Amino acid sequence: MAVKNRVIITLSCTTCKNRNYHYARGKKKDKKLEVNKFCPKCRKHTKHKETK
Ligand SMILES: [Zn+2]
Repeated sequence: MAVKNRVIITLSCTTCKNRNYHYARGKKKDKKLEVNKFCPKCRKHTKHKETK
């Protein structure tokens, strides 16, 4: 698997700061994204932001 130009992003819940998701994306996109994901700690869908 080619890891070149890919970076692993951690998505953490903005409510409880729990780090719930990891995913790989291209390095070129610099803007931080916010996605609604299910947080097992909050037990509901919350906004997740990427952290390093
Ligand atoms: Zn949460």
